[in-house]
Amino acid sequence: MKETDERRIHVTILGTGTSTGIPVIGCSCRVCQSSDPRDKRLRCSCFVEADGVDLLIDVGPDFRMQAMRAGISNIDAVLISHHHFDHVVGLDDLRPFLFREQSKMACYTNEESGRILRNMFGYIFGGGNYPGAPNLTIVAVEGTFSVKSRRDPSRSVAVIPVPALHGDLEVLGFRIGRFAYITDTSGLPASSLELLGGLDVLVLDALRHERHAKHLTIEQAVELAQGIGANETFFIHMTHSLLHVEENEALPDSMALAYDGQKFSVGF
Ligand SMILES: [Zn+2]
Ligand SMILES: [Zn+2]
Repeated sequence: MKETDERRIHVTILGTGTSTGIPVIGCSCRVCQSSDPRDKRLRCSCFVEADGVDLLIDVGPDFRMQAMRAGISNIDAVLISHHHFDHVVGLDDLRPFLFREQSKMACYTNEESGRILRNMFGYIFGGGNYPGAPNLTIVAVEGTFSVKSRRDPSRSVAVIPVPALHGDLEVLGFRIGRFAYITDTSGLPASSLELLGGLDVLVLDALRHERHAKHLTIEQAVELAQGIGANETFFIHMTHSLLHVEENEALPDSMALAYDGQKFSVGF
């Protein structure tokens, strides 16, 4: 990494699709059949390289393919938005990242998702000695926390959890420097909006145009994003009702649908 890159945060969007992934299995709609690679959406996940600390946000069913496609060779910690299947079911595929660097890898999430994950993945988090289970640990967080590099513990980065509502469920968004990532949300409490001033880039849930109890519509996401006022906003967790090119033409200048493999860098 060049000296000048040292204080930039490098972000790779690994997946932008809703829980089914796009194309939806067996679907012949125009989005599922589109030849535009930006209409192919794996399950939502994101890789963040910040000051020598490599963070993965969510680890869904497509994680193995996403890690290979993006050439990821190190992960220091996982930030987990919530325990829904499409965000956590790739946890076991973290094992290759624990072969070389064997120190424990922390999975940061909130109290409730932590409790449910311990039940879902008893062989990993149950405290037994299941042979070959990945050396992962759950850390429940509320306020700002610091994540250390597993290879060089002198390097660390501060992460601010941003509580968000996903219907009735409280999930976590995350802010790192001037970057914030909020998936699976139907709205933010005022206390969370206060954590989102001065952003370069906001990544935000925007499911589709039709209303949904647990996700923002495109219109709701645009309105929320305008209020937050990041320099740029990219939307994720889209269904197959949204054609990439068509939607982008209708969005305000500083906003766009994100796409799998998209990369950008932001300031601290
Ligand atoms: Zn989801
Ligand atoms: Zn969810």
